[in-house]
Amino acid sequence: MSRSEALSDLMQQIFTHDESGRSVPCVNPKLSTWWLSEDVETQEAAALACTTCPALHDCRTYVDEWLEVGGVWAARIPATKGRHARDLLAGGGSR
Ligand code: SF4
Repeated sequence: MSRSEALSDLMQQIFTHDESGRSVPCVNPKLSTWWLSEDVETQEAAALACTTCPALHDCRTYVDEWLEVGGVWAARIPATKGRHARDLLAGGGSR
């Protein structure tokens, strides 16, 4: 499966959850800017919200296979200069 196919599958999972009333935080119009924020505290809030997401497992599977360097994905806060990416699911340690 190509990256674009894997991303398309993940997006389908996200919208299926959301349309079924299982809220996916990063597609909530009131919150969605958090996932692309440059502000570390906002990124942490996004990553914490990820831990409640019904698509978290599928999102983690996708991002483990297809590294995404920008934004928060699957409760992982992106690395910035002088700092490693942090994983809230792994207790905030570096990866
Ligand atoms: S785990 Fe986080 S980034 Fe992934 S779909 Fe859910 S809210 Fe979005």
